[in-house]
Amino acid sequence: MRHSERHRTAHIGWLRAAVLGANDGLISTASLTIGVAASGSERAAILIAGVAGVVAGAMSMAAGEYVSVSSQADTESADIARERGELETQPEAELAELAGIYESRGLSPDLAKQVAAQLTAHDALGAHARDELGLTEASTARPLQASLASAASFAVGAALPVLIVAFAPAASLSRLVIGSTLVLLSILGALAAKVGGAPVGRAAFRVAFWGAIAMAASAGVGRLFGTQVV
Ligand SMILES: [Zn+2]
Repeated sequence: MRHSERHRTAHIGWLRAAVLGANDGLISTASLTIGVAASGSERAAILIAGVAGVVAGAMSMAAGEYVSVSSQADTESADIARERGELETQPEAELAELAGIYESRGLSPDLAKQVAAQLTAHDALGAHARDELGLTEASTARPLQASLASAASFAVGAALPVLIVAFAPAASLSRLVIGSTLVLLSILGALAAKVGGAPVGRAAFRVAFWGAIAMAASAGVGRLFGTQVV
């Protein structure tokens, strides 16, 4: 794989996570504001619900991402610690294991032994982490970075419905939230598909369809509450 392709693959992961985070923000906050609007509430109440939804959603995304990536980081550091111990207690077996990995990747037994010996002399733990455990600098779990990226992408997606609630004419508020949300969802869906090399049209339709379902369900509940409670 060429150097630039490897970088592109690394970026694709981040881009997909960002698009999915923005999708979550957009669908959940648009549905929330549509639901509150359907109950007959004033703009101020809808706006408060929207802003509270952005903060709550972004924080829960950040917390969830931090917890899951931290447990991944814990597993990685436990693997590294075990590897370090094995290298200290059974260096010969570890050297043979590393040579075996290179041999299974196509090197001749002699060359595999040579490469394993040289890489072990250079940085034994690094060689085992990379070639045995598959841990590279790029794939290392970074809980804080991941959680901030997740919260930020959620907030970016959620910002659109909140801005519309804040500035749109009251009479067309719900229609504008629904319309712009479906348009942006289609664009995000198409983008994620394009980046992942999947069919664009189907992906755009799929995410817009579920966005519409979510908003319709929230509007239904909001109207029900509006008639019964308010
Ligand atoms: Zn090992």
